[in-house]
Amino acid sequence: MPKKLNLIGQNFGKLTVISLFGPFKGKTGWNCKCLCGKEKIVKTNDLTSGHVSSCGNHQNDHRKYDKGNKFERLTLVEYENGKWLCLCSCGNYTLVLTTSLSSRNTRSCGCLKTEENLSRINKFKI
Ligand SMILES: [Zn+2]
Ligand SMILES: [Zn+2]
Repeated sequence: MPKKLNLIGQNFGKLTVISLFGPFKGKTGWNCKCLCGKEKIVKTNDLTSGHVSSCGNHQNDHRKYDKGNKFERLTLVEYENGKWLCLCSCGNYTLVLTTSLSSRNTRSCGCLKTEENLSRINKFKI
């Protein structure tokens, strides 16, 4: 009996394995979550060989979600479980969902909102 692989929690490129799917196209399949938030079932071999490293649907989009990339005030530092640890230009760190970044709901640690409330909107806009 070959040792049962447990890939849950591991990262393969843009994909994070969230759970075991079970038999998939004659092989073992895993539920994976892509950086963009999309879920995809991937076979063990495709993951471990690096053959599949993203959901495959947003090739252009993925370039935006890389360490060091900026979203207005936020610089992407580290990715974990669908969230990015971001460094805000004010010096604060904040955890942001990838989907919040893509929808532009979150553009700062919160300081931007505060400043906008103080009606200094245009001064800090890029
Ligand atoms: Zn994706
Ligand atoms: Zn900030």
